[in-house]
Amino acid sequence: ADAEAREAAYRPAFTRDGRRLETVANIGTPAEAAAAVAAGAEGVGLLRTEFLFLDREAAPDEEEQFQALHAMTEALRGLPLIVRTLDIGGDKEVPYLRLPREDNPFLGIRGLRLCLARPDLFRPQLRAIARAARAAPAGAVKVMFPMVASLEEYREGRAALEAVRTELGAPPMEVGIMVEVPSVATMADVLAREVDFFSIGTNDLTQYVLAMDRMHPALATKADGLHPAVLRLIGQVVRAAHAEGKWVGVCGNLAAEREACAILVGLGVDELSVSPPSVPELKARVRGLRMSDARRLAERALACGTAAEVRALA
Ligand code: PEP
Ligand code: MG
Repeated sequence: ADAEAREAAYRPAFTRDGRRLETVANIGTPAEAAAAVAAGAEGVGLLRTEFLFLDREAAPDEEEQFQALHAMTEALRGLPLIVRTLDIGGDKEVPYLRLPREDNPFLGIRGLRLCLARPDLFRPQLRAIARAARAAPAGAVKVMFPMVASLEEYREGRAALEAVRTELGAPPMEVGIMVEVPSVATMADVLAREVDFFSIGTNDLTQYVLAMDRMHPALATKADGLHPAVLRLIGQVVRAAHAEGKWVGVCGNLAAEREACAILVGLGVDELSVSPPSVPELKARVRGLRMSDARRLAERALACGTAAEVRALA
């Protein structure tokens, strides 16, 4: 029975009526890559590369970044690794970068915007990623840009990656974006023609849709990813992506919430990315669902007026 349970942990997760959900992990360190595999994850849906930059005196160089990424692709043995480029700013501070003080850091030079302004940070990271892709099994390394707010930003990020990739003779990589800013959710049909995939960062998306600071103690319970305003945007992104044959994941904390799983699956999401310890529970949840029920639930959630109403449904 033990061996059987272990085997089930590694099998992909299908709903009762046969829809496959990609179940992957959010990680921040090479040790967590191994933990993700051990937990039965089908890969990494979000690598937060900030881990390499925090709690130290200077930025890691290209070689150090390459070594860390290489250790992860080795641990993953060909399973996909979605590397999110540096997402500094907002709640993620790095003192040695000496970034100018901003009145509204959550609306300032952060995420991809910061990387585009700082090639000294961006280029070594892109080079490390391209080298890791060159050393890994074909297609294993994918790139994802955080906090994209416009098509121009995405194009600029992709061009920077492409330049580095050709320089190094690295293989083509799939390139996607995080959906964390309302503008890219509403423009998803246009972006879907150019990106390879979307991953919805419900932590930031909720904060920007509801104009509620995700760290604010008095707003913590109100900034709810199950708010119908957030769910409507997720549904819109899924429709837009699927119309162009692209896939959509969810890598924010909402993906791990018991009450959210059926709704996200019902909205048509293709991939769910959660912390390694949450993977087995996520798979069990998916295996208990039926698409027809999940779709009906999602429809009803979209018609709700408040997050509390959605939670009462789920
Ligand atoms: C998110 O915003 O939902 C997300 C996954 O990114 P982070 O939590 O790292 O900001
Ligand atoms: Mg985010």
